[in-house]
Parts: sequence; C-alpha cells; structure tokens
Amino acid sequence: MTRPTPEDERRVLDAVPTGLWIEGGEVAADGDRTLPVHDPATGEVLTEVADASPVDGVRALDAAVSHQESFADMPPRDRGEILRRGFELMRDRIDELALLMTLEMGKPLAESRAEVTYAAEFLRWFSEEAVRVAGRYSTSPDGATRLLTLKRPVGPTLMITPWNFPLAMGTRKVGPAIAAGCTMVVKPAAQTPLSMLAFARLMSEAGLPDGVLNVITTSASGQVMEPLVRDPRTRKLTFTGSTDVGRQLVEQSAQRLLRVSMELGGNAPFLVLADADLDAAVDGAMLAKMRNMGEACTAANRFIVHESVVTEFSDRLAARMGAMVVGRGTEDGVQVGPLIDEASRDKVASLVGGAVDAGATVLVGGGERGRRGWFYAPTVLRDVPPDAVLLHEEIFGPVAPVTSFASLDEAVDLANDTEYGLAAYAFTRDLDTAWQLMERIDVGMLGVNQGIVSNPAAPFGGVKASGFGREGGAEGIEEYLETRYVGVRPSRR
Ligand code: NAP
Repeated sequence: MTRPTPEDERRVLDAVPTGLWIEGGEVAADGDRTLPVHDPATGEVLTEVADASPVDGVRALDAAVSHQESFADMPPRDRGEILRRGFELMRDRIDELALLMTLEMGKPLAESRAEVTYAAEFLRWFSEEAVRVAGRYSTSPDGATRLLTLKRPVGPTLMITPWNFPLAMGTRKVGPAIAAGCTMVVKPAAQTPLSMLAFARLMSEAGLPDGVLNVITTSASGQVMEPLVRDPRTRKLTFTGSTDVGRQLVEQSAQRLLRVSMELGGNAPFLVLADADLDAAVDGAMLAKMRNMGEACTAANRFIVHESVVTEFSDRLAARMGAMVVGRGTEDGVQVGPLIDEASRDKVASLVGGAVDAGATVLVGGGERGRRGWFYAPTVLRDVPPDAVLLHEEIFGPVAPVTSFASLDEAVDLANDTEYGLAAYAFTRDLDTAWQLMERIDVGMLGVNQGIVSNPAAPFGGVKASGFGREGGAEGIEEYLETRYVGVRPSRR
C-alpha cells in the first residue's frame, strides 16, 4: 500500500459505522450520547461513536438472546461458510481495515496489516472447525445403558476486548462462537472501537444473521457491563485485558457461577542460553519485544541472558532498537508508532526512571520522543537489579531490560519469579536444555528459538495471574460448547 493521503484517511473513517451495532444495523445510543476516538499519534479527534448506557447494553443482550435458538439450529456447514466469507472479505479489505486500525491505535501500517491477516486467520480456522464438533457414544461398564455425549453451544456470550489488538482479540472470540452456534455482545475498548464496528458490518455482508453479533461502545464499561454479567440470560463471559479488571469480572461472575474465560496480563521472560544462535536470538528479541511497540501481553518483559553472552547480546539488541524509525504509523518506513495514551507513556517513563535510579545502565533510548502524540524511544537497559519494578510489572512499551544468570537453575528461578504465566521464550541449541525449559517454565506458551507464539492453530492462553481458558487451536471452540450426556436404556433382547 502506498502512503495514505488525508483523503484516504477520511474515506475509511467515513465508511465506519459509528452507532451501536444491534440487530444487524446501526442504532444511536440512549440520549444520542457519543464518545470521541483519538489518534494517539497526534491527540486529535478522529471521529465520534455512540456512547452506550446500561439501557443500550440490555438492548444488545436482548438481541443476542432472541437469536440464540435459531442460530444454534443453523447447519454447521452454513455457519462455517459465513466464517469463510468473512475471512475472504477481510483479506479483500486489508488496506482499509489496516488504515483504520493504525488511525485509532497507532501501530505502523505494516503491523496493522499483519494483525488484519492474523485476525482473519481465526475466521478461516474456525470455519474449518465448525463442521468438526463431535460427541461420543459408549456402553456403560455394566452394559445396561448407552451413553451419548453431546456438544451444545453454551449460549449468549459477552465478549470484552482490549485496545492493543483491536481486531484479532475480537475474532479470536467471535470466530469460535459463530462456529459453535453462540450469539454474542462484544464490547471493544473505548479507545479503539472502530475496527470492531467495521468488522461487525463486514460479517453482516458475509451473511451473518442479524442479531448474532452485537457491538456496544461505551465510556462507562463497568456500569454497562456489570448488569449484563449479572443477567441470568448471559451464559458466558470471555475477557481479554488487564489482570485487575479480570479479577473484578470473575468476582461479578461468581455470583451466578457464570462460565468465564480470562486472557489477562503477562510478564514474559526471554532466555538466551550460552549456546544460543545469537543472530536468531536478536531477531527473536526484536519480534518478541517490538511487535506492537511492546504493547502486547506476550511481549518479552525481561531478558534473562547467560553471563558469557550478555554484553554481546545487549549491545546488538541496542544497535537494532536504536536504529528503528519512530513516527506516525501512516508514514513511510515507520517501525514504531506512539503508545496508546499519555498515562501509558508516563508509566513507561516512570518504570525506566525507577530502574535507572536503582542502578541500571541505559544502552539506548530512555526518553520521550516529540511533543505531539505519546511516543517513547526504543530503549535497552542492562544490569537491571532484580528488585527493579519494571521486572515485576507489565511494561507495555518499547523497553528491553536485560539481566544475567550463571546456571540453568538460576535462569528458571528468575523466569518463574512472577505472578504471571502467559508466554516465555528460550533460545538454545541444546535439546536437553530446551526440554528442561519446556517442563520447568510455568507458562501457558513457550517459544523455543522463535520470538512469536501467536498462531490461530495453537491454544493461546496463560496460567497463574495470566488467566484461564484457551483461544485458537482445537481447544478454542471448546470454550463455547457445553457437554450434555444422555443415558439411553435399550430394550431387552
Ligand atoms: P483493561 O483496562 O483491562 O481493558 C480491557 C477491556 O475491559 C476494555 O474493553 C475496557 O473498556 C474493559 N473494561 C475496563 N474496566 C471494565 C469493567 N469494570 N467492567 C467491564 N469491562 C471493563 O486492559 P487494556 O489496558 O485495554 O489492555 C491491556 C491489557 O490487556 C494488558 O494487561 C494486556 O496484557 C492484556 N492483554 C491480554 C491478552 C491475552 O490474550 N492474555 C491479549 C491482549 C491484551 P474501556 O476501554 O472502556 O476501559
């Protein structure tokens, strides 16, 4: 795609639905209230979208509930074909969807295109899974009864998604829900509602019946969502976001024993062993750290490097990160966009400041860039003391803190020294070392000699404070299915 002009930007913004998406069309919010969507590269308002109240939330749930039965009865092949058409439409419209995402979220266009592709792949994957939902048949051990095990859609589902991957975090939920036969209410983040609204319209064009996918945008997430979580008609809640909000939602869900999936925060360790291929390790580090400007739950948050290679590894990483082009994501050659808002940029600055005060050395970066927008320079810190706060909290920015270790046991202890357990990465050429790490690092996902773990065909998810449930892979659809067992007594022969 050539660099978009201001007219291109206006055209994609004008084409997005800005109302709530309920019953397959746009609806104004109660009282016609709207909320602004900002460009994080300039701080300017891009457009306004409907600002739902609790009344609107209930309207969206009413729609999802009223279509649940008929949607569950739709033949799986038809649901699969809707997903397939959705996949193809996303592929056809990658330029428009990517530009929209860059405008509202800030990531460079190349990264937005990669996210649109990744997001679309969930539709393709689950279009194929829709027709493979199967049950079991068996005979009870005493021979008296036949046991049928059926899979049924769980029912109307609430989906809450974050701003950092405005499309993929949605399709990772919407894809399996459609495949399984569930209707839904999706609430995207207030800062990035446009991609999900554009996607909802695209799915209507793909043939999704009205009322199956409803989208509400709001500046009052807690007030709008809590009544829906507590509504007895809701059968499932799936959330991707911070661990703090996840905890609140689990507490609300506990009252009704609502089925929940939680994709929460991370604090990924990135281990480089003494025998690692350093070229591959630096390439992997760039991906694990700088994808999405570090604003990813899977982002490498702690580089734990063997003492024999720590200097070379960190110098090479600093050279690569220091050469990255920072700017508005729509501009040619830009590799690092702004952070999402002022608070995020200030948090990154304060974490770096704290580490430096505690004795870390700045190899590159370490400051803000530019006066407009929320830019932060790619930064590498070495000799970060173990108690520095940025080793224990999600940085969510382009900062790579490097520490060193002497033995494998020490590396494993450092890697596991966190309340989180989402992703980890390890670079080694030794099979026995890799095997030990696979079994001893306490995470849901491990990349061995690769700096990315996300893959629609694999189960994505965490352990410990990173949550529970899996998205993608064969496991992903199970989150939207209930198991029903039927005992049938045959007549005597
Ligand atoms: P967040 O503040 O937890 O927000 C996530 C979503 O929850 C947004 O839609 C937000 O709406 C909504 N929300 C906030 N408070 C709520 C409440 N009381 N009730 C109902 N909904 C509420 O997280 P974020 O800052 O957007 O996203 C970053 C976090 O997501 C990081 O911790 C990251 O690690 C995590 N994440 C995890 C995964 C994963 O798969 N494990 C993937 C991506 C991101 P508003 O926008 O209106 O606040």
